[in-house]
Amino acid sequence: MSEQKPKLPKIYLVLRIFGSLLMIAGIALIIVKAVGAGGYELMVGGNFCLVFGLVVLVGSFVPNMQRIEIKTKRYILHENKEDLADISNQTAEVISPAVMGVAKSVKEGLKEDQKFCKECGAQIDSDSKFCPNCGKSQQ
Ligand SMILES: [Zn+2]
Repeated sequence: MSEQKPKLPKIYLVLRIFGSLLMIAGIALIIVKAVGAGGYELMVGGNFCLVFGLVVLVGSFVPNMQRIEIKTKRYILHENKEDLADISNQTAEVISPAVMGVAKSVKEGLKEDQKFCKECGAQIDSDSKFCPNCGKSQQ
């Protein structure tokens, strides 16, 4: 497969590093707090860094995940091409009589509002006062 791989913008690499550093800083702050050095604000800051870093890190992987998803779908479609074509043909075979039935019903439904001329027997609209074929009154 000659698929050119477009480079991911550098911003995602930066985000990855930034997110990782934030998480490391967060963990460091929490450890410092855990060993007893520092106050409550260290815990808050540490947690904030950890969560924010995680969000940034996960966010930086979104384009990769989307790319993987598209690749997976493309692969599945490619691998099952014949089966999908087969299913689509079979579906058409199943559906077409139904569509034809509906078309026939519609056609007949449109005709339903018709009657026959008392004089010449031509099929005419049920609300016609005169026959369009022979011109005789229908009342
Ligand atoms: Zn007539």
